[in-house]
Formats: sequence, structure tokens, C-alpha cells
Amino acid sequence: MDSEGVASWRRSPGGLVTAITPLMRGRDGAWVGWAGAADEEVEPFVEDGLALVPVPLSGAEIELYYEGFSNATLWPLYHDVVAPPVYERAYWDAYVKVNRRFAEKAAEVASEGALVWIQDYQLQLVPKMLRELRPDLRIGFFLHIPFPPVELFWQLPWRTEILEGLLGADLVGFQVPGGAANFVRLARRLLDVKTQGSQVFLDDRTVSARAFPISVDVEELAEVIHRPEVQERARQIRADLGEPGTILLGVDRLDYTKGIGQRLEAFGELLSEGRIKPGEAVFVQIATPSRERVEQYQLLRDEIELQVGRLNGVYGQLGSPVVNYMHSSFTRDELAALYLASDVMVVTPLRDGMNLVAKEYVACREDLGGALVLSEFAGAAEEMKRAFLVNPYDIEGMKRKIMEAIQASPADRRARMRIMRRRIVEHDVAKWAEDFLAALRRT
Ligand code: UDP
Repeated sequence: MDSEGVASWRRSPGGLVTAITPLMRGRDGAWVGWAGAADEEVEPFVEDGLALVPVPLSGAEIELYYEGFSNATLWPLYHDVVAPPVYERAYWDAYVKVNRRFAEKAAEVASEGALVWIQDYQLQLVPKMLRELRPDLRIGFFLHIPFPPVELFWQLPWRTEILEGLLGADLVGFQVPGGAANFVRLARRLLDVKTQGSQVFLDDRTVSARAFPISVDVEELAEVIHRPEVQERARQIRADLGEPGTILLGVDRLDYTKGIGQRLEAFGELLSEGRIKPGEAVFVQIATPSRERVEQYQLLRDEIELQVGRLNGVYGQLGSPVVNYMHSSFTRDELAALYLASDVMVVTPLRDGMNLVAKEYVACREDLGGALVLSEFAGAAEEMKRAFLVNPYDIEGMKRKIMEAIQASPADRRARMRIMRRRIVEHDVAKWAEDFLAALRRT
């Protein structure tokens, strides 16, 4: 909102927005979402073919609902408690209140019998709330992050409320079959309901829980990488880095689930053991600012920047650091140029629902060049077994795989990339949405 009170919008970084924007365009749908700034009361508007229906959040709600319950409680809990979740009653109260506001807004704008698709962990109570307000609707929910095993979910003081919230949907979608299985098992254990395969049987209806792995917009990325200025930019990046033998690339939000520290540790040890020579290889690490008001993210930033500084202090030379670290957000075009310029993409999350960066890299490598080092703990690993798969907790193993990726023959790289690309091209984001909506219609 500018000083004249005129609203404008900017897409925010992150897998969800990247995935859904192309689908909503041209459909007669409305996107109900947070306006993006505290206390912003914006009327619904149409922008770039999208009908946007803003829901306001106060400053206190951003703190308690978004930074609190969503990102300090649910985020770490759902990512295998790689950081300790904070269980705070005031966070929960705000979560209930905000979920209700979203449910009421959706109930207000949805036409008779409409399909409503609720996205992600910030809105898990909406399915049940919306069903109570509008029993005529068909309700789908998709969780973009992992759904944890029962033994971890059990910690949550509000476990029953969250589970019942989700069971308000007709179809609950997960990134991988394991997440759907965790959910069905949880329903059985916590509510003592009957289940069979992907079905959860409630008194009056049945809920389906299934995997729909999200993907990227392959066509749009192809258009980007075919543009001469993007290819020129890729050449420029290699030149700017001094044409090293190997460019390793990491692209992540600066988040403790992404395993950035582990991968830098592996890279540092490879340098210290002389298996990688400074000057022959350069690590480019993009760490997009994220959740900067949450304390754990501030601590993480300090840790990573200390690590980068040490590596460059020990192994860097005048004008040629071993790690090129950037704490900023990049455009899609600039990322595509980086994907094209790099030899080894290193994606090592400790836990990740899917990881779209890994899929974007593969989608962009039409030339079949480049190698992907990928964590077994990313959802993407289930579809890309021909990546150099690593356990990010195993630093020695990760060092071995990074070396294998660097030294892989062009023929080996091509063979791996060809198989991974086939999967991604056939299962792009449009297919993800079609599959989900088709399954929702069938419920
Ligand atoms: N991204 C971006 N600019 C950046 C960093 C990331 O546009 O500076 C995009 C990236 O291309 C990808 C998404 O943000 O589409 C990140 O999705 P991913 O699933 O890898 O991770 P998330 O951030 O959702 O945990």
C-alpha cells in the first residue's frame, strides 16, 4: 500500500507461491490470502488475471499466529523437531482466531457447491471451520511441508484439534506417501476411527489422504532458459567467478531445516584434506532472508556467516573467495542463470517437504549437464533416485558424494539427468494441480 492508499502486490519467494500462481490465472477462481503487511485492510481486487481477496492480520497476530504458532511451533515439529518446537498457549489462541477469519472469508466468497482448496500448515483448522459454515462445499487441503510420524506429532498439546481440523476436508494431500500414511495412522491412534489404505472413515463421511508431489512449471522455465540474455548471464557468472573447474551451487531460504551448515562443513573438510583445491572449485551459496524476527533464524544466520567467513579466511585468496555467499533474494531469471552456470547443485536439507529448487535445477538442465547432490530427507528424493543421494547428517558420506558428483563423467551426468528430467517433465506443477483437483472432484 503506498501513501495514496493504492495497493500493489509483489509475489513472495517460496515454493507455494511459485507453484500456484500459474494455475490460478485464467480460472474463475479467487485466492483468499493475507494482504502481506500488518493491519492492511485491502478490498478484493483483480491483478494480472488473479482475483485476490485479502485477509488482514494485526501486528500482534503476525507475531503470535505466523511467527509463533506457524513458524516456531508447527514448522520445527513437522520437520522432525530439528529445532525444538515452542508450545505457547497464546500462539495457539491466535492460530484459532486467524484460522476462523480465513474460514469466514472463504465461506463468504465461495459460490454454491464450489471446490475450495486450502493450502498449508498455517490453515489446518480451516477445513473443519469452513465445513461447519458451508456444508455444500467440497473441501481439499494440501500440506506443503512434511507430516511427521505419530510419535512426534503426539507432543502437540493441540493434537486433537489440529487432526479434527484437517479431517474437515474431503481430501487431504501430502507431498509423499509417507506423510499420508503418518496421517492415517494418527487418525486411527488418536481418534480410534476405522481406516483402510488411504481412507479414514468418520461417522458420516470418508476422508481421503493421499500423496500429490508438487512440482515446477517446466514450460515457463524452458522459456526462461531459452532467452539469450539468460544464457549470456550464465556465461557472465562463470567469467565473474574466474572460470573455475567446478561451480557448486546452493539456493535456500536461510532456514535451519536446509542443512546449509552441514554442506559447508563437508566442503570445508574437502578443502582442508586437499581433495578440493581452492581456485579449482567455488561454492556459491544463496541464502534468502527468511523469518528474520524469529530468534532461531537470527542465530542460524550468525552461525552460517561465521562458517563462511572462516572458510574464506583460511582458503580464500585476494579477489577469489572459496565461498560466494549472498544473503538476498534472487529473481527467477537470475536463479535460472545460476542453475545453468553451475556444475554441481547441492541440496542437503535435514528434512524438506519437497524442495522445488532441486526440481527447478533439473528442469533447467535441458543440456543434460550438471549434477544434483540431493538429501534423502527431501521429498524430491523419492522421484529423483538418480541424483547423488546423501544423508546430510553423515558428513563423510556427503563428502564422498560431492566428490563423485564433481568427478562424474559427462556420460554419467547425462544419463542421470535424462532420467530425472523425464520424471519432472511428465509430472509438472500443472499435473500436480490437475491430479489433486480431479481427486477432489471424485470424493
Ligand atoms: N526462490 C526465489 N528466490 C530466491 C530463492 C528461492 O525465487 O532468492 C524460489 C525458488 O526458485 C523456489 C522457491 O523459492 O521456487 C523455494 O522453494 P523450495 O521448495 O525449494 O523451498 P521453500 O523455501 O519453499 O522451503
